[in-house]
Amino acid sequence: MPEIRTRFAPSPTGYLHVGGIRTALFAWLVARQTDGCFILRFEDTDKKREVEGARDHLMASLLQLGLVYDEGPDIGGPYGPYIQSERLDSYRAWAGKLIDAGRAYADPYTPEQVQGFRELAQKEKRPFLFRDHRPENPPVWDETMPLRFKSDPKQYTRTDAVMGTLTTGPETIDDFILIKSDGYPTYNFAHVIDDYEMKISHIIRGQEFLSSIPNYLNLYEALDITPPVMATMPHVLGPDGKKKLSKRDGAKDVLDYIREGYLPEALVNFIASLGWNDGTEQEIFSRDELIHTFSLDRVQRSGARFDEQRLLWMNGHYIRALNLDDLFGRVSAFWQPEAGAYGDDYKKQVLGLVQERLKYFAELPALTQFFFTDLPVEPELIEGHKQLKKVDREMLRELLVSVRENLAGSDFSVDDLTSRLNQLLESSGQKPAVLFSLIRIATTQAPASPALAETLAVLGKDRSLARIDTQIAAMQPGDSL
Ligand code: GLU
Repeated sequence: MPEIRTRFAPSPTGYLHVGGIRTALFAWLVARQTDGCFILRFEDTDKKREVEGARDHLMASLLQLGLVYDEGPDIGGPYGPYIQSERLDSYRAWAGKLIDAGRAYADPYTPEQVQGFRELAQKEKRPFLFRDHRPENPPVWDETMPLRFKSDPKQYTRTDAVMGTLTTGPETIDDFILIKSDGYPTYNFAHVIDDYEMKISHIIRGQEFLSSIPNYLNLYEALDITPPVMATMPHVLGPDGKKKLSKRDGAKDVLDYIREGYLPEALVNFIASLGWNDGTEQEIFSRDELIHTFSLDRVQRSGARFDEQRLLWMNGHYIRALNLDDLFGRVSAFWQPEAGAYGDDYKKQVLGLVQERLKYFAELPALTQFFFTDLPVEPELIEGHKQLKKVDREMLRELLVSVRENLAGSDFSVDDLTSRLNQLLESSGQKPAVLFSLIRIATTQAPASPALAETLAVLGKDRSLARIDTQIAAMQPGDSL
């Protein structure tokens, strides 16, 4: 079997969102399943659309997700250069062959004339095909005019590794531009040449190219090249499952997810599951499992829905599965500035308490603020509390005084705190939702916290009692609380 060689061929026109990275991931997986090669190629022939910094951004996005390429613009390889604008000689040579074979011709029309043909076709309600206007005696091509492919329209039946067997008629084939008047090739021409010269075995790309494939097949035939296996990825759809995913739906830059503290392994798992499953109910796949189980023929043909809640869930799952030391190492850039004054042991204990609830690292300051900062008493936490607001304020204050007295005798180990909290529950006759919420609010000034005894133990005796004192003082009769 010939070597499996797949490629990811982005145009450096912007950042990489989940749809783009999914194409890259699937191409990477197909290469990694065998001892194949995964290649990065920049398709930069549309100079007007190029965005500065996009190349570095694209490479960083792949590498952050661990989609390491074996050949590419920055690392080279046996079939380089891997940047289309550096391969113009090659396109010219192939164009020359097509001209010599009578399969390419200079397009003598001005853009206005072509527009005129287009409008006429529209008026006459027929599809516009350039081949209906093929000049009888085209001028000699001098590279200031577009060079067009002289097509040979026919029916094709082909098998797409995802979409299955597809049949198209001759009407889908036209004389498309091979080389533009600015000297750069079109994608339609350049990718065929590059894929051939780079010995690509599988083209994995987005659905937007599906309707052009008959043109490519016609060109392959004219060039006497056997086309690679083609796999067309359905669109990634927005959360409504209808429209193509857009920025408005939260189609974020992949690097933004990394910056917000999503784990590369969770992102890879999530992105792989957009339109692919292994036929079982399994949702969590390690990178190795994906390499072993992925197959193009299980990629669904209809659009895949992007569900950010599912990504959050999956990321939380991966965070919970990390051991504490690993997690601690990964969150180092996410602590609030005040945490800088605390030692690693304390921060690790705090992290251990919130690990269960952490969905992505950027949430860390909000979840752990009270461990590092004495927050001011927030009356609304009691006044707006479902249970506490029904209880007489003076009674709450007295309850807190008795809590303070009891906890003053504790060594603040989790065991001792747990038994004291249970004792207090019994002696006060209060519901846990009242007693524990009150203590939680007094010691954290937050609506939620990790388990109470554990939280108090980490906060420590002095700090917990001082905070209870502050709350009691704020509840003196005559005050607003
Ligand atoms: N340069 C094309 C794009 O960025 C890639 C198409 C392909 O993968 O062949 O859309």
